[in-house]
Amino acid sequence: MNMGTMRAPTEARHADEPPATAGAAAYMERLRVQRNTYLERMVHLCAQAHPYAKQVLRDRGLTPDDFRTVDDIRKLPPMSKQDYMRDPESFRLDPARVTGLSLEERTIADIIYTAGSSGEPTPFYDTVHDRYARIDLMARATRIAGIGPADTIMNLFPLSVVPHQGFLSATWGPMAAGSKLLSGLTGRAYAGFPVHRRMDEAIDLIESQRATVLWGITSYVRRVIMRAEELGRDFSAVRLVMAMGEPCPTAMRDDMRRRLMNLGSGEITVNNGYGMTELMGPSTECRENGGAHLPAPEQFYFEVVDPETYAPVPDGARGLLLLTHLNRRGTVLLRYVAGDVVALTHAQCPHCGRHEPRFLGSPYRVDGLTKVKGTLVNPAVLLERLSGLLSRGVREYQVVISRENPRDPLAADVLRVRAACAASEQARLRQEIQATVRAETEISPEIEFLPEDGFAEIAGGYKFKRFVDERSDTD
Ligand SMILES: [Zn+2]
Repeated sequence: MNMGTMRAPTEARHADEPPATAGAAAYMERLRVQRNTYLERMVHLCAQAHPYAKQVLRDRGLTPDDFRTVDDIRKLPPMSKQDYMRDPESFRLDPARVTGLSLEERTIADIIYTAGSSGEPTPFYDTVHDRYARIDLMARATRIAGIGPADTIMNLFPLSVVPHQGFLSATWGPMAAGSKLLSGLTGRAYAGFPVHRRMDEAIDLIESQRATVLWGITSYVRRVIMRAEELGRDFSAVRLVMAMGEPCPTAMRDDMRRRLMNLGSGEITVNNGYGMTELMGPSTECRENGGAHLPAPEQFYFEVVDPETYAPVPDGARGLLLLTHLNRRGTVLLRYVAGDVVALTHAQCPHCGRHEPRFLGSPYRVDGLTKVKGTLVNPAVLLERLSGLLSRGVREYQVVISRENPRDPLAADVLRVRAACAASEQARLRQEIQATVRAETEISPEIEFLPEDGFAEIAGGYKFKRFVDERSDTD
């Protein structure tokens, strides 16, 4: 890929970004100073107005003066996602308890929802201050992804039952980049207000407005591309896919690329970022598989630790991610364990020369490892192996773990692969799926074939559960 296309020569540089010519050591030092400054203010605010942090500080006999640098954050115990989900209100700054906050710092602008413990979504509060941080973060994320004013972006995140971050990211990102913005507004219809569009109408817009960027949840964007193939549409202006919210292994990127070429597209880049609500937006790649750059690293402090001992792991090694917000005014999380295992490198990017830390490889859930028939299975790896079958006739797939007798907790486990493909391909694919699963897990799978247009739930819009464990379905 030509690096000259990745960054416009006239791009504005953020005040917190040192020039690319600055050495890595100078960048890290400046980042550290900025983070320490933010931390001091953050801890002072939490000590006054953050119910959960106040309690922790009191229990440990700590005061804001104990937090001079980001290293001092280790004086706090890790906060679990369960704690936050149980009582999200106690993780918000209460503006009534702080004097001297500006109107921007205390006015609620948005509430974004993340998955909750009992199916009830968990609110994540943004004040206007946080909204500006979000726009700034997305401006930088789009710059890293090579999106600019010449682009026409189709936001394919659904207009969902509760607001999720993806829709906001793919709205503020294009607006901050000065791009033209289209929105599919797909999603579940709501009685009385006919605002939702069907997938085919979103496809019409992509074609007629000559969208250059498709941005949405990986499995849904792929579904849109497949539907456009069925309809024989012209997507020749598309040059970039922002595949977010789910992993997008190389075989799936290649599958999307091949299908887009059938729709008339030329060279296609598939950008797969890593993000979560608590990170306020996705990290994005400067080139495929080059690592996902954190767009606004001074807003956060990250620790990557051994999941058992919580000792820091070396730079670039895999470990559990702990996240600390340094500059928020709504929901604030300190030493927060989201449950993802990541690898984070602080080495200068060999592809674009930027200095922001990058996530390497695909993160996976620390609680995602699961035992099936006594064998430890990593769903992320199994799904990545199965994605190789996308180029060999499988149109879509899902792995379901259940028990032979659902009412008997001692009954044997069953690993079932559900695959959508043409009827004529079933015999061959049965062999290939069996071989793939056995090679990864030593388990013989049951295989269920669906018609080619199976998995209608993907068309519904939000995250497609590619791995379902029916033995303990809690979320
Ligand atoms: Zn880079």
